[in-house]
Amino acid sequence: MSAPISALRQFFYRPWMLATLAALASAAVLLAASIAIALQQMKDSEMAQMNAQGERFLERLEQVFGQLREGVDELQAQPVRGCSPAMVSVLQQVGLGSRFIYEAAYVDANVACSNRGGARAFVPTRAPDIQGPTYSYWLNTTTEPNENLAALMLARGNFLVSTSRGHLTDVVDLPPGGSLLVVLDNGTRAIPVLGPPQAWPPTNGWPPPSQKSLIELQDRLVYRMPTRSPDYQLALIAPRASLPLRMNGMLWLLFPGSLLAACCIGWLVLQLIQQRRSMSSELQNALRRGELQVLYQPIFELDSRRCVGAEALVRWRRPDGSLTSPDLFIPLAENTGQIRQITDFVLQRVLEQLGQLLRSHRNLYISVNLAACDVMVPRIGSVAARLLALHRVAPSQIAFEVTERGLIDVVVARDNLQALRAVGHQVLIDDFGTGYCSLAYLQTLPVDCLKIDKAFIDALGHDAASSGVAPHIIRMAHDLHLRVIAEGIESEEQAVLLNSEGVNYGQGWLFAHPLNARQFAELVTRGRQPRRARINDEP
Ligand code: C2E
Ligand code: CA
Ligand code: CA
Repeated sequence: MSAPISALRQFFYRPWMLATLAALASAAVLLAASIAIALQQMKDSEMAQMNAQGERFLERLEQVFGQLREGVDELQAQPVRGCSPAMVSVLQQVGLGSRFIYEAAYVDANVACSNRGGARAFVPTRAPDIQGPTYSYWLNTTTEPNENLAALMLARGNFLVSTSRGHLTDVVDLPPGGSLLVVLDNGTRAIPVLGPPQAWPPTNGWPPPSQKSLIELQDRLVYRMPTRSPDYQLALIAPRASLPLRMNGMLWLLFPGSLLAACCIGWLVLQLIQQRRSMSSELQNALRRGELQVLYQPIFELDSRRCVGAEALVRWRRPDGSLTSPDLFIPLAENTGQIRQITDFVLQRVLEQLGQLLRSHRNLYISVNLAACDVMVPRIGSVAARLLALHRVAPSQIAFEVTERGLIDVVVARDNLQALRAVGHQVLIDDFGTGYCSLAYLQTLPVDCLKIDKAFIDALGHDAASSGVAPHIIRMAHDLHLRVIAEGIESEEQAVLLNSEGVNYGQGWLFAHPLNARQFAELVTRGRQPRRARINDEP
C-alpha cells in the first residue's frame, strides 16, 4: 500500500474519527429524511387547505344553483308574462324569498325588467357557459370587483336569476392572489369565478396526463378538484407560498431528535470500535499466551467408515476455562489481519502435534482453513514448505480449505491456489453452495474437492426447497471429477443417503466431534473412538 494511502487509513482508523464520521453521516441522513418529511407534510397541508376551500366552494355552488333553479322554476310556473307591475312584484317576491337570489329578471325580445330596478335588468351579453336541457348557466358575468354584481346566473325561458359575487366570497377564503375557476369543455376553457383572471391553460399540454390533483408550477400551484358533474371541474390557482404554511409540531422535534439519534449512533460506533479493539488486543494476548488450541474433526470414507484425515479447527480457551467460538473471533481476526498469525499458528500446531502420526500414515491428511487474505498472497505456501520440511511431512498431507467468499479476486486466488497444488497440496472449496460459485466459475479454479455445507446436508430428505441442492452439487462435482466431502453429518440416514448419491467422504457428529491431538491419534492408530468426545475436550 502506498504511503499516502496508509497515512490516510491511519488517520481515519481512529475510534474518535470513525465515531464522528458515523455521527455526521447519520446526522446528514436523518436530517435529510426529516426535511423530506417536513416538506411532504407541508405539501400535504397545502393540498388539504386547497381541498377544503374547493369543497366549501363546491358546496356553496350546489346550494346557490339549487336556490337559483327553484327560483327560476317558480317564475316559469306562474302565469304572468311581460313587464307589468304584477311581474315586478312576482320578481320581487322570488328575490325576497330566497337568500341567494340577488336579482330576478324577465327578458324578452322587447322588454326587460327586474326585482331591483323595475325596467332595468342585467342581461348577459354572451352565450351560456353551460347549456343544459332546461337551464342555461353563466358563471361569471362581470369581472368588476363589485360584490353586488352578478357572479352566477341561471336562465329558464324568459326568466333570469342571479346571485351576487358576495354570496360566493363569504364562504371561500381565497389565498391572496388566488383565483377560483370553473373549467369547462374538457379542460380547454376556464372561467374565473372568484379572484383575478388567470391565463388558461396554466401550462402547455393541459390537462396533464397524471391524475394528480395538485400540480406544482414554478410560480403557482394549481389544484384540480373534480365535481360530481362530468361537464365541469373546479380549479384553484394560487401563487406559491401564498398559503400559510405551518409545520406540524412533531416535526420540530424531528430535528433535535435526529441530532440526538446521530450522537447516539456515534457513541455506539465508538463503543463498538473500542470493544473490537479490546477484543483484538485480547486475541493478540491469547496468541502470545498460547490460549489458542487446535482440535481435529476426523473425516471418514463413507463406504468403509475408515478415517482418512481431519479438519483442523481452532479454539480459544480463555484463562477462566470458557471457550470463545471461532465464529466470533475469526471474522474479527480477518478484519484486523491477525488471521495470518492464526493460520500460521494452526499449521505449526498441526505439524508439531501430528507430525509423527502423519509420517507414519502417509495417506492421512489434515486440512487447514484459509481466510481470504491467506489466499490473496503466496505467503502461506512458503510457511507450509518450511514447516513441512522441518517435520518431514509430505505436502500432500496438508490440504487447504478456502471458502467461496475467500475468492475475492479470482485471478490472484487462482494463481496462488495453483501454486499450492503444484507442490502437492490439495485444495478444497469449503461451505460449497452458500456463495455464488457457479459451475462455469468452478471449472476455472484449481481445486480437488468440494465440501458441501451442513445446511444442505440438514435439508436432505426433507421437503425444503434446498433439499435438492446437495444432489445437484454432487452431480456437478462428479462431472468435474472432483471429490466430495459432506459436512455436518449427524445421522446414519444422512450418511447412507449421501453414500448412495455417490459421496465418498464425510465428517460430522455422527462419526466424531472435533478431538484433541491425542484422541485423534488414538482414533487413527487403533481405530478407536474416544468414549465421549466433545468440542471442548482438553487437549
Ligand atoms: P467450518 O470450516 O465450516 O467448520 C465446520 C464447523 O462445523 C466446525 O465448527 C465444526 O465443529 C462444526 N461441525 C462439524 N460437524 C458438525 C455436526 O455434525 N453438527 C454441527 N452442528 N456442527 C458440526 P467450528 O469449529 O465452530 O468452526 C466454525 C467456523 O470457524 C469454521 O467453519 C471455519 O469457518 C472457522 N474456523 C475454525 N477454525 C478455523 C481456522 O483455523 N482458520 C480459519 N480461517 N477459520 C476457522
Ligand atoms: Ca472448513
Ligand atoms: Ca464448512
